[in-house]
Amino acid sequence: MQIILMGPPGAGKGTQAVNLVKRYNVLHISTGDMFREAVKEGTPLGKEAKSYMDAGKLVPDSVTVGIVRERLSKPDCKEKGFILDGFPRTVEQADALAEILKDNGMALTAVLNISVPAADLIERAVGRRICKSCGHSYHVKFNPTKVPGVCDDCGGETYQRADDSEETMKNRLSVYESSTRPLIDYYKKAGVYKEIDGRQEIAKVEADLAAVLDA
Ligand SMILES: [Zn+2]
Repeated sequence: MQIILMGPPGAGKGTQAVNLVKRYNVLHISTGDMFREAVKEGTPLGKEAKSYMDAGKLVPDSVTVGIVRERLSKPDCKEKGFILDGFPRTVEQADALAEILKDNGMALTAVLNISVPAADLIERAVGRRICKSCGHSYHVKFNPTKVPGVCDDCGGETYQRADDSEETMKNRLSVYESSTRPLIDYYKKAGVYKEIDGRQEIAKVEADLAAVLDA
């Protein structure tokens, strides 16, 4: 099982990745983890990536693709299968991934996109409140505290993170949308694309993902 998991920020992709790993005993391979591993192991590509990151520069595609190739060529990927998270981000990277899979005798099982309309994601983010003391997360509409501004658990003060402002969310989502749309078209053409309604309960989203994978 070789899966790409996609979804806009705030759609619950992280939660579902954990669920799928448990359900299918596959590897969860995120771009962040791959970079950290390569840097830690001190591979030539890891060193190169680190030099860019240390300088606050964007890691070039050739390095990113190289790190993905190294990781996906390890035997555990073929043995256990994997969920790829955060890669590819562009059509060029998708082409590179196709080549990497082919070279390793693998093919994509499915590209799963947890889809949530921007308006819902903005509502979720803007209403989110976090307890300053214990970190418990609330929502002013969907999961409010009993007393406004006061944590039910510990009595601490709740606040809105700067990242959860409407403007920040709108920007993040528009960047995501414009970069992802070509990828969606790409995988639709390849016949592996499946969209799951991410507005549903977490358990229902998981069931829908599993239904696609079990089919
Ligand atoms: Zn609290």
